[in-house]
Amino acid sequence: MSGPQVGVLALQGDVREHLAALRAVGAEAVPVRRRAELDAVDALLIPGGESTTMSHLLRELELIDPLRARLADGMPAYGSCAGMILLAAEIVDAGAQGRAAIPLSGIDMTVRRNAFGRQVDSFEGDVAFTGLKDPVHAVFIRAPWVERVGPGVQVLAEAAGHPVAVRHGAVLATSFHPEVTGDRRIHRLFVDIVNEHR
Ligand code: GLN
Repeated sequence: MSGPQVGVLALQGDVREHLAALRAVGAEAVPVRRRAELDAVDALLIPGGESTTMSHLLRELELIDPLRARLADGMPAYGSCAGMILLAAEIVDAGAQGRAAIPLSGIDMTVRRNAFGRQVDSFEGDVAFTGLKDPVHAVFIRAPWVERVGPGVQVLAEAAGHPVAVRHGAVLATSFHPEVTGDRRIHRLFVDIVNEHR
């Protein structure tokens, strides 16, 4: 059986690195910029970047409602950093009115945008990750953290006393950027989730 079709939202950010990481773990990875492309994929990865800019582009491209609908319908998804922010049900410090990051409600959680950024813009460290034997070397870049999780949301990793990796059913989110380290375990976990879901 061929690998699942996994889209990478290709408006901004580390699109190429995520496509390569997904292919390395057996997915058929394709960039997604239009409604028809979104409709065709089995799952979607939302990369890091700037959640306010991505929200603006999503609105311009009329992708907000289709994305919300696919998530509500159970499409597996993975969001990293800005992608985690967009997958939230509620966003704290979402940005200036009219330009704010838009929550797509993939995971019942509240995420604080730029949470670590108030202390230090970028940092990295090893974090224990539920289900993985060795810690993950996590790179945080103006990263969010999770302030509230709803029932059924599993916390997979924490840093500074806050969840930085969570899973709710077939939807996964991390505050950090696994595409920059060459460690494919998070992408593999995501593709395993997508395969289980098929
Ligand atoms: N701070 C960014 C935002 O608000 C996220 C940073 C990132 O994705 N590396 O979207």
